[in-house]
Amino acid sequence: MIFWRIIRRRRRPRRCAPTGPETERLRAQAKAALPARVRELAAAFGFDFNGRVTIRNNVSNWGSCSSKGNINLNLNLMRLPEDLRDYVILHELCHLRYFNHGPEFHALLESVCPDHRAKHRALREYRLG
Ligand SMILES: [Zn+2]
Repeated sequence: MIFWRIIRRRRRPRRCAPTGPETERLRAQAKAALPARVRELAAAFGFDFNGRVTIRNNVSNWGSCSSKGNINLNLNLMRLPEDLRDYVILHELCHLRYFNHGPEFHALLESVCPDHRAKHRALREYRLG
C-alpha cells in the first residue's frame, strides 16, 4: 500500500490537453495528412510498416510506437514545420526496428535523418499543452 502511494506521488501531475474548435481543426488536418505521410516515409526509407496510425491529443509526447507496430501521433504535429513533423515520424518508424533508444536505434535514425540532433533541439522550442 505504501509502495503504491509513493509511486502515485512521484508521477507527474496529469495536465489536460486543450479541446475546442482549434483542436478539432488540427485533428481533422492530422487525420487527413499524417497516416499518408507515415506510409510515404516508410516506403521512401524502406521501413516495413503495416500497422495503424492513431491520432492522439496529449501533452506528454509528439509520438509513440507500440510493441505491436502501431504508431501514435500527436495532432499538434500539424502546428510544426514540415521537416520537424517528418523527424518525429522517422523517429517512430525507427522504433519499429529498435524498441529502445540504444546505439543501433540512433545509428538507424542518423542514416534516415542525418540532422536529427538539430531537429531534436528545434523541437524543444515547441511546447505541447
Ligand atoms: Zn523514441
